[in-house]
Amino acid sequence: MAEVLVYVDHVDGAVRKPTLELLTLARRIGEPVAVALGNGAADTAAALAEHGAVKVLTADAPEFTDYLVVPKVDALQAAYDAVSPAAVLLPSSAEAKEIAARLALRIGSGIITDAVDLEAGDEGPVATQSAFAASYTTKSRVSKGTPVITVKPNSAAVEAAPAAGAVEALTVSFSDKATGTKVLSRTPRESTGRPELTEAAIVVSGGRGVNGAENFAVIEALADSLGAAVGASRAAVDAGWYPHSSQVGQTGKSVSPQLYIASGISGAIQHRAGMQTSKTIVAINKDAEAPIFELVDYGVVGDLFAVVPQLTDEVTSRKG
Ligand SMILES: Cc1cc2nc3c(=O)[nH]c(=O)nc-3n(C[C@H](O)[C@H](O)[C@H](O)COP(=O)(O)OP(=O)(O)OC[C@H]3O[C@@H](n4cnc5c(N)ncnc54)[C@H](O)[C@@H]3O)c2cc1C
Repeated sequence: MAEVLVYVDHVDGAVRKPTLELLTLARRIGEPVAVALGNGAADTAAALAEHGAVKVLTADAPEFTDYLVVPKVDALQAAYDAVSPAAVLLPSSAEAKEIAARLALRIGSGIITDAVDLEAGDEGPVATQSAFAASYTTKSRVSKGTPVITVKPNSAAVEAAPAAGAVEALTVSFSDKATGTKVLSRTPRESTGRPELTEAAIVVSGGRGVNGAENFAVIEALADSLGAAVGASRAAVDAGWYPHSSQVGQTGKSVSPQLYIASGISGAIQHRAGMQTSKTIVAINKDAEAPIFELVDYGVVGDLFAVVPQLTDEVTSRKG
């Protein structure tokens, strides 16, 4: 069976959920061979094996942390040369998309970014993408070289599928370009204790209807009852009520959770562009004519300050 390279996103050995989702998709098209780089790379092996990795190629070197993406591209290319895979899969994070693009260019292959599904095809893997603010669903196949495909978080279920997960050290020689851009400092973002917006299974967002920074506590309370991330429309961000890093939409982040709850958001095309591929969409809006209701699975016409706290109480009481 053909091998499929899976680029591992991890933090000091803790594998992030989108990588486990990639393993589910990789198993549809071949045998997953994971590539884990940097500090704690070898510690990823158990989780990767549990989810189907037949092999885990690891490399650690200061270059991976001291410089921007090129050393990682060098390593992924070394893995590519060693394995000759049928496809290379990466998560659709900003960094991994840059790595994917650089690798595709180096190996002369086509690339598909932001896939939301992947299946085996007679002439190579077929990727589903959502285009034009999710107005269209497209299916594409790379017709040149080895497909390099990035996949959005929440596109597949995490499935246990125990495999050998044999750890092998990957030999990497860094190119001249590897040390071209040095990282000078890192400042960790203050943790909210909530899941990362683009990876969260549930996102609760607030818009102009929230009417003030202090009122976002209502949105946060619902999010916390559901273990969700908090998002915001641009109107709410521009008003200074919530940080730009939480903006969902065309000029913000793209999210694709299992459940998206929009409160006090009208549903402008630019907002939809970032959330329309969510699996189930719920909106709470006091205007029955708000465009958001055109795309929802469930809609509540009502004042969010009456509806959202009730929802929070109901969720909390059912958990108790
Ligand atoms: C180039 C460009 C890029 C953009 N990028 C983005 C982007 O990335 N993300 C984004 O979100 N927008 C983006 N926008 C802005 C976008 O066009 C809209 O202006 C914005 O999404 C509106 O935000 P909103 O829905 O919160 O506000 P509004 O459109 O003002 O809607 C507020 C809604 O809240 C409802 N409401 C008010 N009070 C309550 C209440 N008490 N209870 C319930 N409902 C209530 C109202 O009925 C209304 O429907 C972009 C625009 C441009 C031109």
